[in-house]
Amino acid sequence: MYLIFVLTGFALVFFTLPFLFYRPAFGPGCPYCKHTHALERQPRPALMKVLFFYMPTRYYKCLYCLKRFVQFRLVTVH
Ligand SMILES: [Zn+2]
Repeated sequence: MYLIFVLTGFALVFFTLPFLFYRPAFGPGCPYCKHTHALERQPRPALMKVLFFYMPTRYYKCLYCLKRFVQFRLVTVH
């Protein structure tokens, strides 16, 4: 019975974990400084590749403000 709550808690933690380090972006460009160019494609972290292989995300680093963010593949950066 309690196992369900524990598993749900783990799932929630794992789902929100990457967004502590990578800010999710739904619009085009960097979510911090709004630059649409000078974005460097980052390789996906190995843990994220295993856990979130089904998520349509791309990891970028903005070369202007040097911050990382996750771009959902529903929109294009450039
Ligand atoms: Zn930026």
